[in-house]
Amino acid sequence: AQDVDDLSQLKAAPRASNVWELDYLGTVLERMLRRLEENSAELRRAWRDAQTANQLKNEFLANTSHELRTPLNGIIGSIRVIQDDLCDSKEEEQEFLQQADKAALHLLAVIEDILNIAKIEAGTLDMNVMPVDLRLVLKDVLDMQVLQFQQKGLQLIRPEMTEPMMVPVDLSRFKQVLLNVLSNAMKFTDEGAVAVTVTTGESVTDESGVERVKTSEVGDEVPGSLLLPSGPWVKITVKDSGIGIEPENLPKLFKPFVMVDGSHTRPYEGTGLGLAISQNFMRLMQGDITISSEGAGQGSTVTIVVPQMVKALVE
Ligand code: ADP
Repeated sequence: AQDVDDLSQLKAAPRASNVWELDYLGTVLERMLRRLEENSAELRRAWRDAQTANQLKNEFLANTSHELRTPLNGIIGSIRVIQDDLCDSKEEEQEFLQQADKAALHLLAVIEDILNIAKIEAGTLDMNVMPVDLRLVLKDVLDMQVLQFQQKGLQLIRPEMTEPMMVPVDLSRFKQVLLNVLSNAMKFTDEGAVAVTVTTGESVTDESGVERVKTSEVGDEVPGSLLLPSGPWVKITVKDSGIGIEPENLPKLFKPFVMVDGSHTRPYEGTGLGLAISQNFMRLMQGDITISSEGAGQGSTVTIVVPQMVKALVE
């Protein structure tokens, strides 16, 4: 017991005495020290986790204040130019007002996204999951976007769905995810097409307990990091012919505020929160979302998966 300074260097207690009580005492002390060592290792782990979480929180706060300050500075700057009568014409004044308006709308979008993330973190986001017809939801969402696709000269390829397909989702949040993915596909594609496809499959556990995947399409492989729901599922794929993503950037895109080009003068608008929020929403609906790309200039594919309601329940 006297030798114990470093719990990680425990020596076995001597058991050579002829007095059984002493040997027994040695055994009990040893057991006690081992419990102590286990507890202190657990504490060290928890401390490390707490430090990492704290660091992530600090990074998040630093990013958040930057993202809030940038548009706010834009608004203040534009207003001051007009207030100080620095514009040469009414048109120039209008231009600054438009810039302020755009920055204010962007600020609102960032704040709404941050509130969503805060609610997800605090576990206070209420999900209203109910059966909805995926065919109708996709039609709604694609109809909403069709004009913008036309204006940009992009082809929008719709999925072929002849029958209703029921999925258990929170309708408004599911639509938010689909809209975010579609507007990303449009935003990052300058020419070509965005194709939306729907496939179904089922995760079944075989006798050896290994999960196998049956899909409705031959050669339809499942991206590595997609968490498939157990049982029947539906996969919605949004494939664009846009700027693509370098493979090393793929894993970090689901972190809040990450945009591939981190510069302040971003050529594309956005908050960098859409995918992070979409992933949280999809996981709360027992589904998932991933993004893949062969590399820059090769287009990107976003895959969303949701559980599918079995026919017997629907009828
Ligand atoms: P935002 O679109 O607001 O920047 P997101 O979280 O939706 O935020 O996306 C994060 C980043 O992922 C984008 O800034 C972009 O760099 C990359 N990204 C997302 N979708 C695509 C896509 N279809 N093609 C290329 N890059 C994409």
